[in-house]
Amino acid sequence: MAALPPAARVMDWPTGLLVHDGKLLGIDWSVWKVLGWLGNLVFFSRFFVQWYATEKLRRVVVPTAFWWLSLIGSVLLLIYSLRQRDSVFIFAYAFTWIPYIRNLIIHHRHADAHLECETCGHSCPPHSNFCGSCGAPLAGSAAKTAR
Ligand SMILES: [Zn+2]
Repeated sequence: MAALPPAARVMDWPTGLLVHDGKLLGIDWSVWKVLGWLGNLVFFSRFFVQWYATEKLRRVVVPTAFWWLSLIGSVLLLIYSLRQRDSVFIFAYAFTWIPYIRNLIIHHRHADAHLECETCGHSCPPHSNFCGSCGAPLAGSAAKTAR
């Protein structure tokens, strides 16, 4: 078979990036590969979510979505590693769900402990004495009960 002319090789270049040896991205795709790569994508996406939240507020924050993406991604990767029977990756994801769930529980409790301003409806951090939005004393705060 004759070699392709140079122009045809250039035209084929983008396809060569996606399809290698007749396989998409050179990967032997199966249901388990899809699950593993989905886990990778979900787990990796958490960095962008955290980065976006930090840039948006101009301070370092870890949104709840970060912990959910961490939990879902690591569980998918744990399932994949169990299927692959790879002890290195099983150990890497066997216990990470514990701090993710704990952080979600703490975040949920913290959100529930917020105080709502009776004057403007603003949600204020727990143990606040005054509303951060309008400055009114908050119900149940030391400032209110001292009056
Ligand atoms: Zn207020």
